[in-house]
Amino acid sequence: MLIAGNWKMHKTATETGEFCRELRDALGGHEGVDVAVCPPFAGLAAAVQALADTEIAVAAQNVHWEPEGAYTGEISAAMLVDLGVYGTIVGHSERRQYFGETDETVGRRAAAALDAGLWVIACIGETEEERERGETEDVLRRQLVALESHDDLVIAYEPVWAIGTGKTATPETAQEAHAFIKALLDVPVLYGGSVKPENAAELLSQPDIDGALVGGASLEIDSFVAICQAGAH
Ligand code: PEP
Repeated sequence: MLIAGNWKMHKTATETGEFCRELRDALGGHEGVDVAVCPPFAGLAAAVQALADTEIAVAAQNVHWEPEGAYTGEISAAMLVDLGVYGTIVGHSERRQYFGETDETVGRRAAAALDAGLWVIACIGETEEERERGETEDVLRRQLVALESHDDLVIAYEPVWAIGTGKTATPETAQEAHAFIKALLDVPVLYGGSVKPENAAELLSQPDIDGALVGGASLEIDSFVAICQAGAH
């Protein structure tokens, strides 16, 4: 069971250090659940430092596929490894929607990160229109084809209509999508989309839901810790 907090573009490095120290104290041993935080690039070093003696992992929100070069504004996997970062998200729907990310670039980012020894949370998911048109399975299949199975690959199923909207997929809808994904690629699958302390336990009890990628509710200690505890049961 993995609970990962995607902070998106929130928290300065100073705020990151404070939050991670509070998280460390609040979670203690946190048996039965793996926990990760994914701050913006600018906060990664502060998070690594604050969580150095803990089992809480630090991951980035994106990574480039080249080891170095003329790619202004990008960060390589080697740079993340050197910082002490364990993993990275790739293909978040906000990257796909606002920054021109495609299935092909997501696949290249994932492959480079895995090659460099990072674990990867690759996000996939359909939009509301795609679901209404009955295209959910086609979209998930197309997004998965860009990814190769790997021991350190985790998929996050994040229906775009459920991200930051307060509309959570029902446990049954999420379970159905997770089972479909696992039939195509045998890796752990996290659910993401308005996970909150109130709905976490029910979602996480579904047989094919292996954890959660949490956006908004990962920004406050109390709600993030409550979701981690729901995952530990
Ligand atoms: C996310 O950004 O990955 C996410 C699932 O956001 P939220 O939990 O806020 O819907």
